[in-house]
Amino acid sequence: MRLGFLGGTFDPVHEGHLALARACRDGAALDRVVFVVAGTPPHKLDRRLAPAKHRLAMVRLAAEPDPGFVVDDREIRREGIGYTIDTVGEIVREHPDDDCFWIIGADTLPELPTWREAARLIDTIGILSATRPGYDPEPAIAVLDAQFGTVRAKRISDGFLEMPPAAVSSTEIRARLAGGESVAGLGPDRVAAYIAANGLYS
Ligand code: ATP
Repeated sequence: MRLGFLGGTFDPVHEGHLALARACRDGAALDRVVFVVAGTPPHKLDRRLAPAKHRLAMVRLAAEPDPGFVVDDREIRREGIGYTIDTVGEIVREHPDDDCFWIIGADTLPELPTWREAARLIDTIGILSATRPGYDPEPAIAVLDAQFGTVRAKRISDGFLEMPPAAVSSTEIRARLAGGESVAGLGPDRVAAYIAANGLYS
């Protein structure tokens, strides 16, 4: 099987996450996309996230209609700060006969050098990323080349796929909800209903 793992805080999940998952599934012929919901991510320690059980429930609602999308809660069950390299190590050990890929949004790719043991991460699992048509990935690749060497940078650029632009972020959704504005169309209706029913982000 070909498996893609899409990590995120999903606070909340939105159309951009789903578009990224679809682009990687279709562009890299994945049998399954696994949404890995972060517990306590190292790069977001400075802000309070919605409780993990709500973020997880929203991702489950978003993923459920698509039989190829599944949800993994291992990082939520883990104590302490969650590092992607630890999750990836577990995943490749659990799937010795499958082709596994870690999915990273193109906007997050330039942050890769700050991730713990990023070089080992690139050596351990394939990386898939997706960008909007016309986006020039060269500057980002040049940074990765300087940091990790040509072989690793090429592995990453080989994993670049195209996706339709989805100009939405969780930050924007939280801001709109805090301001009492509509978030219609930015994510699945069932997620918006869950947010309203649980009084999140208001
Ligand atoms: P926040 O605004 O709270 O920082 P976010 O919307 O960027 O959150 P995350 O959960 O941090 O969402 O992102 C998970 C993954 O999804 C990351 O790899 C990120 O690059 C990617 N991603 C997020 N939004 C989009 C989008 N609109 N298009 C493509 N990829 C995206």
